[in-house]
Amino acid sequence: MNVIDIFLTMEYGPAPESDKNAQEFLDQHDRRFGLFINGEWTEGENHFPSLNPATGETLAQISEASTAQVEAAVAAAKSAYPSWSQLSGHERAKYLYALARQIQKHSRLFAVLETLDNGKPIRETRDIDIPLVARHFYHHAGWAQVMEQEFPNFESIGVIGQIVPWNFPLLMLSWKIAPALAMGNTLVLKPAEQTSLTALLFAEICQEIGLPKGVVNIITGHGSVGEALTLHPDVQKIAFTGSTEVGKKIRRNTAGSSKKLSLELGGKSPFIVFEDADLDSTVEGIVDAIWFNQGQVCCAGSRLLVQESIAEKFYVKIKNRIQKLVLGSPLDKGIDMGALVSEEQWNTVNGFVERAKAEGLEYWQVENCPTKGCYFPPTLFPYVSPASEIAQEEIFGPVLVGMTFRSHQEAIKLANNTRYGLAASLWTENINLALDVAPKIKAGTVWINTTNVFDAASGFGGYRESGFGREGGKEGLYEYIKPKSTKSSSGFTIHNKEVNLRSYIDRTPKMYIGGKQARPDSGYSIKVSNPAGQTVGEVGEGTRKDIRNAVEAAHAQSGWAGMTGHARAQVLYFIAENLSARAEEFEQRLVEASGYSGKDAKLEVEKSLERIFTYAAYADKFDGRVHSTTSRHVTLAMHEPVGILGVVCPKEYPLLGMISLVLPAIAMGNRVIVLPSETSPLSTTDFYQILDTSDVPGGTVNIITGDHKSLTTELAKHFDVDGIWYFSDKQNAETLEKLAADSMKRTWIESEYDWLQNPLQKEFLRKATEVKNIWIPYGA
Ligand code: NDP
Repeated sequence: MNVIDIFLTMEYGPAPESDKNAQEFLDQHDRRFGLFINGEWTEGENHFPSLNPATGETLAQISEASTAQVEAAVAAAKSAYPSWSQLSGHERAKYLYALARQIQKHSRLFAVLETLDNGKPIRETRDIDIPLVARHFYHHAGWAQVMEQEFPNFESIGVIGQIVPWNFPLLMLSWKIAPALAMGNTLVLKPAEQTSLTALLFAEICQEIGLPKGVVNIITGHGSVGEALTLHPDVQKIAFTGSTEVGKKIRRNTAGSSKKLSLELGGKSPFIVFEDADLDSTVEGIVDAIWFNQGQVCCAGSRLLVQESIAEKFYVKIKNRIQKLVLGSPLDKGIDMGALVSEEQWNTVNGFVERAKAEGLEYWQVENCPTKGCYFPPTLFPYVSPASEIAQEEIFGPVLVGMTFRSHQEAIKLANNTRYGLAASLWTENINLALDVAPKIKAGTVWINTTNVFDAASGFGGYRESGFGREGGKEGLYEYIKPKSTKSSSGFTIHNKEVNLRSYIDRTPKMYIGGKQARPDSGYSIKVSNPAGQTVGEVGEGTRKDIRNAVEAAHAQSGWAGMTGHARAQVLYFIAENLSARAEEFEQRLVEASGYSGKDAKLEVEKSLERIFTYAAYADKFDGRVHSTTSRHVTLAMHEPVGILGVVCPKEYPLLGMISLVLPAIAMGNRVIVLPSETSPLSTTDFYQILDTSDVPGGTVNIITGDHKSLTTELAKHFDVDGIWYFSDKQNAETLEKLAADSMKRTWIESEYDWLQNPLQKEFLRKATEVKNIWIPYGA
């Protein structure tokens, strides 16, 4: 055998990481763990095994928390809250810093334990998961330190319930716990039943650093434990990562409870390869996108979209590359892929693959796959139709499906052809093309010529059914704080004395849809009276059909979102100009229809004008950020409009309330369907004449009058409405949030607000936007 032969036939030898320390850690606990409640360990009533999915061996027995134990954990967090939230930011920063230091000091133990419990390669836990965990605690120690300066009008929320999945057990824990503690909250966290061990080791670290008792509580168990946590009345916010199905259930369970909610759910993220991409790097990108963590990644690039002109050549490269992926013991430092998390997950993935094979779809699979343990071979279905089950459903395993496209427009359409919107990855050497396509993809994160990169300084989260809320970055911290009091201190006095009616009683304002006055589809009108009982006019009684027409009109007006902030500001200033010209008429309307004094009516119109100016000013000033992420990336946090918003106005302040809601929404590029004040709709309906004369493109603002309860229900059920701002009767909130779960609409519900002072003026802009993080690597 000569040197060349030896070189060509050379095999990598095994490079096993020792699990001695991790096994000792388990032995020290007699392989049986309790619950961490109020800084102490409590035995669960029942136990269940935690398995090593690569070998099938039982690692330890984990406690199943009882209902009483869930309550005890919440009670501990509740009693720890007052003193923890009142610590200075600096004091909290020191605890977070200590946690980061301890995690670094025990990093190898954490990495090995995670690998044993989850089946993921040691290379990933050692080099990605655990360093990022430490980074999250360091980064958020900094946010604790500067909280008062950075969020002067905000405060902590209270007790937070946190539920994490099994795919990145400790990393997801850190994404949840670090920001919650930094902002002064206390918490109860439930890890996934399959992977509780690193969370329990983390609890020991909390003890070691002397974290005050009850600030962090870790309770283990099955889904029912998580459910009990979400239903507990003393939990003020739920932060959940997991499946869309469970996310929807939690949304329904918490509807109407005023609990804050953030949901990081599933995805079916596109990986788009344009014909000018550097194909060799792109192939490596695919390995990271779908075979990292065995494909059990919520933002895995699981849908490969390749430009037709290079598809054949590109598939050959992928085929060659996947045959070289090495599967084996997750503790071996030389392997690329370990085992899936459980037999159940293996069966789910296999089910998808078998059904696709039965459909007759062509596929390639890696041949060298261990047969013992939950190993699944990397799989590619290169030619799949967009409607096929494996192209639409999240598989959560190492299975890639491919499709081709011809034009850029087709690539965007295919990319957005999903109910999800978590992430996307674009590959092209043309920066103009990349930056043109990135904003058009409906996803919270877009990676350009890179994939699956994360950092504590950048937000992460979804659009559509991938959930709402962000984790990481400044944007993620808003999930763990609430505005300081915003309630109105003094309102106007509403008079119920009869007034001289100058308006014409027989004038029936119509609804306003697509820039045109529209009669209600029902053919019915409702009488509107003032507080003295005098009939002051009639408005149309809107129905489902009117909502549908308004949503259609809003949809057609996509140009509004594409206008520059400057151009939108011009239109908004024009609205102010036209309202100013008719100020007296609007004042008179408020006196006659709403029981205002002349002085109050004047003030409401003046404030309305001022508010329009404010949001016209912000139209080109509510900038995003460039995040300082650790790797060599420019990470652009861009503000994008949410899309189509339903805006349900308060009964009081009929003009000012409506303007305070509609103007920030349209300033940011949203289109709105407005339900004006239920009791005093006339000043709002007159407002469409102002819109008509102000160059507001038809469909940008649509106004439907009628019963709030039934119209809000229709808005909530409509799959093309992306969010609802609801400031009307609180009793409808529960139904609204339950219905909104079906399409994961963002909802914002407030029953009282200080409309005169508008203390949250920027909060309206934040709620009117989604943050999209675009990662662009640099380096020659
Ligand atoms: P789940 O959504 O069922 O579980 C996630 C977490 O929620 C776990 O801690 C789970 O507890 C808990 N949980 C389950 N039911 C409830 C409930 N009703 N109320 C509150 N908490 C609950 O995901 P699975 O682990 O079962 O995985 C199923 C599928 O979900 C995967 O195949 C994948 O498609 C997707 N998934 C997506 C993730 C993502 O990051 N987007 C992460 C993980 C899974 P327990 O584990 O004890 O049942």
